[in-house]
Parts: sequence; C-alpha cells; structure tokens
Amino acid sequence: MDFVLESKRRIALVAHDNKKQDLIEWASWNRAVLANHTIYATGTTGKLLEQALDFPIHKLMSGPLGGDQQSGAKIAEGEIDFLIFFWDPLEPQPHDPDVKALIRIAVVWNIPVACNRASADYLISSPLLGGAYQSVLPNYTAHVERVIEPV
Ligand code: PGA
Repeated sequence: MDFVLESKRRIALVAHDNKKQDLIEWASWNRAVLANHTIYATGTTGKLLEQALDFPIHKLMSGPLGGDQQSGAKIAEGEIDFLIFFWDPLEPQPHDPDVKALIRIAVVWNIPVACNRASADYLISSPLLGGAYQSVLPNYTAHVERVIEPV
C-alpha cells in the first residue's frame, strides 16, 4: 500500500521535560519552515511552543495523561505524517509504555521520526519535505484479515 503526501505536512512535536528547552530552541530556529506546516504537540510542549513560535498549535492532551497515545492514534489514522519526539534517555517516565508505543506506531506506519536534535535538523532540511512524497508501506493485509479461531 502506498500513499502520496502533499507538500504541507502534519508534524507532531513532543518533548519530555528535560528536553523541552532543546525542542523550543530547535523549533524557534526552524520557525519559518514549521509555520508552513500544520503543527500538533502534546499539551505542555504545545503550550510552550505556542508562546515561543507565536502561531497556533493543535494541542493534544499532556503526554502522561494520554497525549502520546493520542499522537499514536493520529499516526495510525493517517492524520500525522512526521514526528519529532525528543524523549529523555536518562530518566524513567511514568508513561514509558506510551513512549514506546508512540515510537513503535511511527515505525509501523513508516513516517519520518527524529528523536534528537541532529536527526531533527536532517529531517527538517530534507529536500523531500517541500514536495509531494510517495510513502511505501509494508503489506499489512495478513494482519488486518487475521482471524482468531475459537479454542
Ligand atoms: P507534555 O508531554 O508535552 O504534555 O509534557 C510530553 C510527554 O511526556 O510525552
């Protein structure tokens, strides 16, 4: 299954508390590019980004309260096509299972993911960002049609 992304991307931005400053600096540096796209963010990240960038952000719930799961659901439903997720590798989070699930679903649906600033720099400056892009998905038909036999 393939699908074509138009040039305006729906980008989700998420940062754990120790990484929020990093994400805000990165987003401020890239404000002009981000302003051309539709930006989603988990609750607290979104509030801080809105103050820093001064344009509207679609704010989901706070990450630990379900925002990571909301982001993942939007990826699965084809409503988010790019994820910048500055997760904290040095501190356990109360919602660690949600963090893992969000990264997993981004891989399942083959969307670009950046988990640190260097990767985010490469993604945001990619020539693929500005134009149409044909994404290739694995064939999940077998999973969709999986039938559970009664025991
Ligand atoms: P927050 O959530 O933006 O509401 O802080 C981020 C996260 O911890 O996933």
